[in-house]
Amino acid sequence: MSDPNTLSPSALSTVPIHHPYQAPAGFEAPQQPVHKASTVLFPDVAAVRSRRWLDKSSYTYGLHGTPTSFVLEERLCALEGARQCLLVPSGLSALSTVSMALLSAGDEVLLPDNAYGPNKDFAQVELARWGITHRFYDPMSVDDLRAKMGAQTRLVWLEAAGSVTMEFPDLLAQVRLCKERGVVCALDNTWGAGLAFAPFDLLRDGGSLGVDVSVHALTKYPSGGGDVLMGSITTCDQALHMRIKLCHMRLGLGVGANDVELVLRSLPSIALRYHAQDRTARTLAQALQRQSAVVQVLHPALAGAPGHAHWQQVCGAAQNGQGAAAGIFSFVVDTRFDQDAVDAFCNRLRWFRLGYSWGGHMSLVMPYDLDDMRHCGRGAVAAGRLVRLCIGLEDAADLERDLAQAYEAAFGCAWMAA
Ligand SMILES: *Cc1c(COP(=O)(O)O)cnc(C)c1O
Repeated sequence: MSDPNTLSPSALSTVPIHHPYQAPAGFEAPQQPVHKASTVLFPDVAAVRSRRWLDKSSYTYGLHGTPTSFVLEERLCALEGARQCLLVPSGLSALSTVSMALLSAGDEVLLPDNAYGPNKDFAQVELARWGITHRFYDPMSVDDLRAKMGAQTRLVWLEAAGSVTMEFPDLLAQVRLCKERGVVCALDNTWGAGLAFAPFDLLRDGGSLGVDVSVHALTKYPSGGGDVLMGSITTCDQALHMRIKLCHMRLGLGVGANDVELVLRSLPSIALRYHAQDRTARTLAQALQRQSAVVQVLHPALAGAPGHAHWQQVCGAAQNGQGAAAGIFSFVVDTRFDQDAVDAFCNRLRWFRLGYSWGGHMSLVMPYDLDDMRHCGRGAVAAGRLVRLCIGLEDAADLERDLAQAYEAAFGCAWMAA
């Protein structure tokens, strides 16, 4: 019998596959190497039989994780104060995976009326097909949430601040209510990004009050470049994590290592970017408040904005005065201006580009028609047409000059400087 160690490849097709390559030892660098694999190799059959894909103790198959994806998962846990993390191909797939994992036919899910639109769509179309019902609750009324919780309610979605209209709910009371009723609460934490507040430690006392699941569109702040789609699902409860992880595995969800690399590259600067965009956003939100064509500015850090007191309580302003907020807000244009004027304003902007998403380096603008989006009415949002601004990393004065020139051209009123 020949010794397998003396085998040498003879054909050129075999040579490059079985080249005696060893990964470099003793090479440490600030940035992680990118490990890419569908196939993971086992040294022997005993290893095939003993390795487990359910935890991070070993590697079995690319879909179940690589050293690169594990590092990102661990860093996101550190950011959000979580214990377990799953990566998915988009923020939306993080939302849909949680709903699919935790709901069965006959169950009901509650969503805030200002939830990220496609999460509402998923409930209305896909979950409905599987016999899962849903109700939309008023995000600004804990009584409404309480009234809508029924015997079949198995999951409550939370969002703080809400999408587009940016109302900040009474998150503490909402989470307490879910705990009292024993209903799982899952937060879309894209806005807070782990930076504005700690989703699993809302009272900053070491974790006496927190959400059960946090979902994050990594597409936004963690990517920071407008060029990656990814989402995460973080938890602190091992049993809950396993329910979601098994569904995640059966759905075959995975992320590309090059995309993971991009998020790992951007993550060290997330706090700097978040706070810089917050500062610029508040400056511009205050500038818009001074303008006669603007009837309301929807930014939770502004006094008088819907949910401002809840924002102060949860996002640090009650503790340190300044607080934290994402660099995104909307404003409502007076009803005397029609949609053409609002569209002209958006078209006329030069540094704010028309596009979806946020959290990147480029400022973005998008008009919204609230009447198509809300089921529980406008709430505290004034009558008029809505424009959402996502603040990038440009200079605040450049952005204000851009807003001023588009405003004067589209609305025919003088821009009021500070
Ligand atoms: C963008 C966004 C999502 C979805 O993220 P994608 O990666 O674009 O699918 C979910 N929730 C909120 C609040 C978002 O802003």
